Amino acid sequence: MICLTEEQKMIQEMVRRLAKEKVAPRAAEIDEKDEFPWDIARIFGENGLLNLVLPEEYGGVNANATTLCMVIEEISKVSPACAIMVFTTQSLINVLRRGGTEEQKKRFYPRFSSADKLCAFVLTEPNAGSDAASIQTKAVLDGDSYVFNGTKTFITTGEVSDFYLIFVRTGPGERAKGISAFIVEKGTPGFSFGKKEKKMGLRGSPTAELIFENARVPKENLVGKAGEGWKVLTNYGNLMRIWGAASLSLGIAEGALEYALGYARERVQFGKPIASFQAIQFMFADMAMLTESAKSLIYRTSAMIDRGEPFSTVEPMVSMAKCFTTDAAMKVTTDAVQILGGYGYTKDYPVERMMRDAKGVQIFDGTNQIQRVIISRALLGKL
Ligand SMILES: Cc1cc2nc3c(=O)[nH]c(=O)nc-3n(C[C@H](O)[C@H](O)[C@H](O)COP(=O)(O)OP(=O)(O)OC[C@H]3O[C@@H](n4cnc5c(N)ncnc54)[C@H](O)[C@@H]3O)c2cc1C
Repeated sequence: MICLTEEQKMIQEMVRRLAKEKVAPRAAEIDEKDEFPWDIARIFGENGLLNLVLPEEYGGVNANATTLCMVIEEISKVSPACAIMVFTTQSLINVLRRGGTEEQKKRFYPRFSSADKLCAFVLTEPNAGSDAASIQTKAVLDGDSYVFNGTKTFITTGEVSDFYLIFVRTGPGERAKGISAFIVEKGTPGFSFGKKEKKMGLRGSPTAELIFENARVPKENLVGKAGEGWKVLTNYGNLMRIWGAASLSLGIAEGALEYALGYARERVQFGKPIASFQAIQFMFADMAMLTESAKSLIYRTSAMIDRGEPFSTVEPMVSMAKCFTTDAAMKVTTDAVQILGGYGYTKDYPVERMMRDAKGVQIFDGTNQIQRVIISRALLGKL
């Protein structure tokens, strides 16, 4: 059972209403046009969804992992592409909350609290995806600033963000040892945007290339110590998958299941609703088992994070939730398309979009192969 506080129930109700009234009617168009939905970003900002993690004095609600999971789940039932902007923005603020200095919090919190600021999480490079420790973008200390050079790729909310949490190599030290994390602002001279990906799904959530050519970033924007960026990435970044890919795909699965149930009750073949055929009923039973199992795993894990259980216990649970839920969403959405038959395969119905979106979530936030590496390493140790 998921135990929500009164405040969490109120937030859930509010987000459910917003998703139904404001996001759902736009979801197909956002996918079709593949344009960032600034109108939805404004609505999210006005309703406090872009600064949930901030302390109350800055307009937030000090949101914990469970609150974030619930918000992302609700929006993703109708549009994971819209939910992603909440995910990336809250993730950066969360890293700052947990790993930033008091000076950084005082400097950045008021700017996040203006409600319309978006953030991005910047790790991947053209030659460093799953093997994140091999990133090559460099930052060299020169006086009061670090000089950035290199290219990042596949960055969600790429060019539409205002603040970027960027992992770069400051050296010395090989692989993970030489990595540092920085907050970089849009508009920094030498920081520009390149190619925008044309994706199969999650359309409307821009995925862009970031280019750094002698971009100067104040040294006060370093998060944690120089050379300790890997700790920032694993200790805070890896856990965000629970309200990221895991909750996004839970929402996708729930949305697809609900839509297919409604359709199967209405669609008549052989003189009966297709929902009366056992073959369809058993597909629904399987879809519901996967979805409910995913939900239990996610909220059990978010509760562990909120109780402050040790990282070594929580990290593999987050990976299990990410891997299981995204695989579940892929299966549930594929079955939803099957249940709608030929109509499910057309853009007149939302389930083909949900299936395309589900595929993306199996890849991003660390592929499911990498999640299995994390899980098995926790079980077996490093062999
Ligand atoms: C929609 C979308 C949004 C994204 N958003 C962001 C973002 O905001 N910020 C960001 O930094 N990145 C982002 N990414 C990048 C994403 O994190 C990477 O695509 C992902 O980590 C995989 O890296 P890769 O694409 O280079 O694949 P590769 O690492 O080249 O992997 C290719 C295949 O090999 C498998 N593989 C690789 N290594 C192993 C191994 N050791 N064992 C078993 N299998 C392995 C992978 O699982 C995969 O199937 C996004 C990607 C997508 C698709």
